[in-house]
Amino acid sequence: MSVILTLLAALIASGACAYHRTGLRTWAIATGVTTLVVGLLAGAPVTMVILLIIEAAIAVPLLMPAFRRRQISAPLLKIFAKVTPKLSDTEQTALEAGTVGFEGELFSGKPDWHQLLSQPKPELSVEEQAFLDGPVEELCSMIDDWQITHELADLPPPVWEFIKKNKFFGMIIPKQYGGLQFSALAHSAVLQKLATMSATVASTVAVPNSLGPAELLLHYGSEEQKNHYLPRLAVGEEIPCFALTGPYAGSDATSLTDYGIVCKQVVDGVETLGVKLTFDKRYITLAPVATVVGLAFRMYDPEHLLGDKEDLGITLALLPRSTPGLEIGRRHFPLNIPFQNGPVHGKNVFAPLTTLIGGPHMAGHGWRMLVECLSVGRAISLPSNATGGVRMAVAATGAYARMRKQFGLSIARFEGVEEALARIGGLTYATAALSRATAAAVDRGEKPAVPSAIAKYHATEWGRIIAGDCMDVHGGKGVQLGPKNYAGRAWQGVPIAITVEGANIMTRSLMIFGQGAIRCHPYVLKEMQSLSIPDYGDRLKAFDRALFGHIGFGFSNAVRAFTLGITGSAIGDAAGDAYTRRYYRKLNRYSAALALCADVFMGVLGGKLKFKEKLSARLGDVLSYLYIASAMLKRYEDTGRPEADRPLLAWAFHECVWRMQMALDGAIRNFPVRPVGWLLRVLVFPFGRREVPPSDRLGRRVAALITAPGEARDRLTEWTYLTPTANNTVGRMCALLPEVIAAEPVERKFQKAQKSGQFVSHGYDAQLLEAVKAGAITESEAALLKRVRDASFEFISVDDFDPKELRAAVVRGEPVAKGLADAA
Ligand SMILES: Cc1cc2nc3c(=O)[nH]c(=O)nc-3n(C[C@H](O)[C@H](O)[C@H](O)COP(=O)(O)OP(=O)(O)OC[C@H]3O[C@@H](n4cnc5c(N)ncnc54)[C@H](O)[C@@H]3O)c2cc1C
Repeated sequence: MSVILTLLAALIASGACAYHRTGLRTWAIATGVTTLVVGLLAGAPVTMVILLIIEAAIAVPLLMPAFRRRQISAPLLKIFAKVTPKLSDTEQTALEAGTVGFEGELFSGKPDWHQLLSQPKPELSVEEQAFLDGPVEELCSMIDDWQITHELADLPPPVWEFIKKNKFFGMIIPKQYGGLQFSALAHSAVLQKLATMSATVASTVAVPNSLGPAELLLHYGSEEQKNHYLPRLAVGEEIPCFALTGPYAGSDATSLTDYGIVCKQVVDGVETLGVKLTFDKRYITLAPVATVVGLAFRMYDPEHLLGDKEDLGITLALLPRSTPGLEIGRRHFPLNIPFQNGPVHGKNVFAPLTTLIGGPHMAGHGWRMLVECLSVGRAISLPSNATGGVRMAVAATGAYARMRKQFGLSIARFEGVEEALARIGGLTYATAALSRATAAAVDRGEKPAVPSAIAKYHATEWGRIIAGDCMDVHGGKGVQLGPKNYAGRAWQGVPIAITVEGANIMTRSLMIFGQGAIRCHPYVLKEMQSLSIPDYGDRLKAFDRALFGHIGFGFSNAVRAFTLGITGSAIGDAAGDAYTRRYYRKLNRYSAALALCADVFMGVLGGKLKFKEKLSARLGDVLSYLYIASAMLKRYEDTGRPEADRPLLAWAFHECVWRMQMALDGAIRNFPVRPVGWLLRVLVFPFGRREVPPSDRLGRRVAALITAPGEARDRLTEWTYLTPTANNTVGRMCALLPEVIAAEPVERKFQKAQKSGQFVSHGYDAQLLEAVKAGAITESEAALLKRVRDASFEFISVDDFDPKELRAAVVRGEPVAKGLADAA
């Protein structure tokens, strides 16, 4: 017994040190003293001496840096240098671009919640709010999405004009160049609101404000280029596009085959140095109407007109539309969301060197320029458009489900529908928090490479789920396209968001964890970087520091993951209030589990992990859900911990934690080295998988929140265009919602009277009169029922067409094929 007691005391002392991440010296003292005291008191001197010898054998060499470096780190450095895959230039560039924000804490296994909660609350300025309430509101009132998507396959000229005149294309351009110079949050809010009315309008506005000529010029343009282009881009005098993708360069954009050869050509009688460009680009947004084309190509200088180097690398240029030989104007047709999108071609097109973004000295730096700017654009455009879409789904589906009656009940009352409504509400809460957190990171000056990938992936994936649920709840009303359909086009367009700015499968499998692990890990990048230190002594010192930091970090995470696992995340530091404290603790546990698994996976699989995409995707999911859950907790704090939002927070939080658990479980279960998998299972899930998805009861509360007006629903539909204008069916439907709800008890009385069989008439209106006469309802109640029924008829109606109207050839006014003409 005394032996066990001594062993246990030493173990607990070691564990406590590892849990709290003390230094090695503190560990040695704490464990040594504990062993000594407990050993003597318990009367186990032999065990005590053995333990002290073991402890000393570990501590003494490790506390002698010179010895440690020579005997331990040096041989390990040799092995590490051999097994570490060399980073390609592309990967190196990707890693160096961007910053690490709170996601680094999540990867640390011991997040500092104070860091998150002390970040300033993201808010719009007065000017930005006025823009939302003014021009954005007005633009929304002008949008007829059916006209855009079906009749014109384009924005109508007044909408184009309004967008340009009000500087919607200049949100990221500084005021000194005539732009709006909005914060990322405002930029996001504008896109969200536009997306609630039309994915086509939102995409059109998003692109010039995302990665493209304006962003690139701001960072790398010469003064002359900035002064020329930025004021014109701000007011839409120039319409930009950026052409990177081609038939052979999609996800792997660096494999582009477009090239430019440095040469001289006489232009306007003057011999001019430039590049002769041959390119074949596709999928380029705004290209058909662009007046200036950003072009990525590989630049070669075979005649050494610029210097010694022949292959200069990826380079970016800005070509005016009038450039001779530039073939532009044809359109692609992306899934009935007809924003301008098309190919751009050219063969031996001459462009002077002055067209290179930043000038000739930036030749070859194109990939770095793109990657450095990419994270900012990706953090805003797609997440905001998706968030606008899901906010509108809350407004529309919540109101429609309450209003639409079947089997004598509002369909929102059926449990099956309730399940879909809960997903819509809960995932929208999560998506909105994610989108806001990522925009806030940009406003804090970060280049959030990992969060932008998380936001792009999850906002669009959840957009896909919610769009599907929205369609399901609307039934035939969602399926039948026409001016009255507000759901179908958004659902059709979902795969576009999934594909662009990093297709989702690749974003999940390759980027989130791949970049997150190296970027956010406190030691891996340092270890890798130590390899490139030229002086051996310095290299060894740097490696040794990183290595032993890493080992301590690994032990600590194992202890933390296990301790928090066996205690069911019930202990430890936490932030928040009495309601959310347990949530923070759960995140502490999964943060430690992620850090542990990431280390073990990287340590055991080394460079092979890069190709084990299914494993790295799952670890990326864990990081993502940690980030999203943190964003929700921050949002809850920023909004003053509103009690009304708790069901939404709880639903979304449990969903995230449950998904986190399943992702970790999947990764451990499929880990190829089975004994390591078994050990991880014991450490991470000592009592098995205990997290459960949100309960049905919680789902019911969420469904109730989104089907009735209230503060939680208002926050969920923030930045949604709900003004009940003639062009806004959802706005008018939401305006009717209070009356729909007020009519429900009356409806029940009326239905009871109907069921009693006392009515002799058949029509609804006639039966209402009979119900009043019979005293089942009052006259004013009958008037309410009639008003609601009449008003809601519009919302349950769908469109029908003359067969000829649906034929594209007839719409174009062109002769139709003979068979069709006969039929017509
Ligand atoms: C409507 C629209 C607008 C666009 N606008 C522009 C624009 O303005 N400018 C521009 O330059 N480009 C634009 N693009 C291009 C867009 O960025 C690319 O479509 C995207 O990068 C994917 O390339 P791809 O379509 O060729 O797919 P592919 O690269 O062929 O990928 C096909 C599938 O394979 C997956 N995949 C590829 N590699 C991996 C990997 N290593 N691991 C796991 N999965 C992988 C992808 O995730 C995807 O699911 C646009 C595309 C569309 C559809």
